[in-house]
Amino acid sequence: MKKKSLRDLPPQALDGKRALTRVDFNVPLKNGQVSDDTRLRAALATITYLREKGARVVLLSHLGRPKGGPDPQYSLQQIVPALEKLLGAPVEFIPDPANGAATARRLTRGGVALVENTRFWSGEEKNDPELAKTFAGLGDFYVNDAFGSAHRAHSSTEAVAHLLKPAVAGFLMEKELQYLGQLLENPKRPFIAVLGGAKISGKIDVIRSLLPKVDELLVGGAMACTFFAAMGLEVGSSLVEPDRIALAKELLATSGKKLILPRGGVIAPSLERPQESKSVSADAIPKGWAVFDIDQVTQHDFRARLLRAKTIFWNGPMGVFETPPFDAGTRAVANALVEAGQKGAVTVVGGGDSVAAVAGMEDKLTHVSTGGGASLEFLEGKELPGVSALEDK
Ligand code: ADP
Ligand code: MG
Repeated sequence: MKKKSLRDLPPQALDGKRALTRVDFNVPLKNGQVSDDTRLRAALATITYLREKGARVVLLSHLGRPKGGPDPQYSLQQIVPALEKLLGAPVEFIPDPANGAATARRLTRGGVALVENTRFWSGEEKNDPELAKTFAGLGDFYVNDAFGSAHRAHSSTEAVAHLLKPAVAGFLMEKELQYLGQLLENPKRPFIAVLGGAKISGKIDVIRSLLPKVDELLVGGAMACTFFAAMGLEVGSSLVEPDRIALAKELLATSGKKLILPRGGVIAPSLERPQESKSVSADAIPKGWAVFDIDQVTQHDFRARLLRAKTIFWNGPMGVFETPPFDAGTRAVANALVEAGQKGAVTVVGGGDSVAAVAGMEDKLTHVSTGGGASLEFLEGKELPGVSALEDK
């Protein structure tokens, strides 16, 4: 299912037109200021292209989870200064989409306006067609560049896409679909997935979807401990999901040799006592101790496997990477991805914490997905309403 993108529209068709553009400006704020502008920068390619082609750009986004109407804490007005600085141009603010048409019409070619948080209006999360009509009144055509919101059918991501023509993917959305799609469709082999993080429960659908497609699935993080428990090993006080042990058993039984577990872990009596940490093999975890990272033997094993891969997808840290020294395994996997990339492998990272773990290394990886939950749902093979609503190529 290939979707039309901005690239498929003749540039003359954009000139002077109002481009209603859904972006993901759901950025972290501290004292009313943007504390991490990654998501703003991720939308720049699309916004800049539209401006260069003479379009008048009207931006739509949600921010946080406001409950029950407008709330200054979640106002997108707070991000206007950061956006203006990145664009090097003024940004008009539209506090209410219902009264925004005049502002949108007044924009000059290349001008930019930002509409207030779409979630301030109750219809947004209900995919309300009336609210979608209000949004549609601000544009002549529609661009969706908010891949991270595409797994939700909301007025600004789904309903509105049926009201404006053309309705196309922006460059960020296009890139996400291309790289994530390539993992599912025709990955260069060997294809290795590395999954970690806290819980099997949140990742089970990804595991099920990827297992038939990958050559190897390397498991780290606390997730591995649930597999250890399924194998009958002592797991001490490690984070384990008792209600997923049966599931882990089933996966072990059906995955053949594809599922690769850590050989050992770095353990400590608690996160507060890192100075007592030591490495043990997976079958020697003492009672009262918890696994907080993969050990060095596993780091070397995973690295060696990853260096043979031609395609790698990574989601979920290998340990409690927020608390050194338990970040070592996660850093080792990140470095192995970079090394594999230098040898020609396609390297894709997705997820929230895993993306944080590769901060600053983005240019050494093929693709770092900004999609969070949307990337996982995509890899689970689920349909993303915000993508489906766009025009087919
Ligand atoms: P992502 O956001 O990349 O999808 P998750 O949210 O699934 O990743 O998991 C990240 C969390 O898992 C981190 O907060 C990390 O501290 C935790 N974690 C990883 N390994 C362990 C472990 N061995 N014990 C406890 N928590 C762990
Ligand atoms: Mg997370």
